[in-house]
Amino acid sequence: MGDQPLLRVDSIKLFADGVMEYPTQTAAMLAPYQSPDGKPRKYSGKLYLAPAAMAAFIDQANADGFNIHVHAIGDAAVRETLNAFTAARAAGNTRSFSIAHLQLIDPADIPRFAKINVLASMQLLWAQPDNYSIDAVKPYIGDERLARTYPARALVASGAVVAGGSDWDVSSFNPFEAMATGMSRTNPKEPARGTLNVDQALNLDEMLAAYTINAARVLDRDQETGSLTVGKAADFVLLDQRLTAKTTADVVRRLKPAQTFFAGNEVTP
Ligand SMILES: [Zn+2]
Repeated sequence: MGDQPLLRVDSIKLFADGVMEYPTQTAAMLAPYQSPDGKPRKYSGKLYLAPAAMAAFIDQANADGFNIHVHAIGDAAVRETLNAFTAARAAGNTRSFSIAHLQLIDPADIPRFAKINVLASMQLLWAQPDNYSIDAVKPYIGDERLARTYPARALVASGAVVAGGSDWDVSSFNPFEAMATGMSRTNPKEPARGTLNVDQALNLDEMLAAYTINAARVLDRDQETGSLTVGKAADFVLLDQRLTAKTTADVVRRLKPAQTFFAGNEVTP
């Protein structure tokens, strides 16, 4: 890879669990899924990796020079991953650690992200009320847990670094749609659904940081890009609108890059 500086293979994605939506329900939960008629169930999903196996993998990856990025959707998967990262930090592992998706986090675990420097990689386009986030989830996890899904504000308030991601090609790679959803927590196609946990919304500055410098941190490239700083690459877009503190989510959703620069050269398509 020495002659390909733009392609660096230095990060591994692990899957701690699957997804929460019915009927799949492979996300690992601290409390069981429930049946829609309110009857209790015993099934709470499953961890894809035994804790000892995850810890051993992270150790070996460190020895081989890799950062670790973990897919964790359910609160049990998030806790298992934080436990593994905590042990790795205690053993002196200084690699970039991040957890992707974070649909449900136990409140007791939220402060652990900042404490051990685990980056929260969120796909906030999903944080809107739709047939996935509500219809395929709410009857099976109940109102209390649903009200804690995609806890972006709680993470930021705890001092965690929240980075933006798309999960393309599962969903749109347009960052402006995700930023707008993270700000409004609304569904533009079905406005009658209202909001999904709007108390967890982020503001424009926080969404801009999520999709620039914080995303660069997840890629372990924040020394090279992610902000306009002397010594970093001049990678940036000029947008078709001027952003201010009053710019609304609807305006953000429709933003278009007018010009694109890479390493200081214009590369506008
Ligand atoms: Zn994933």
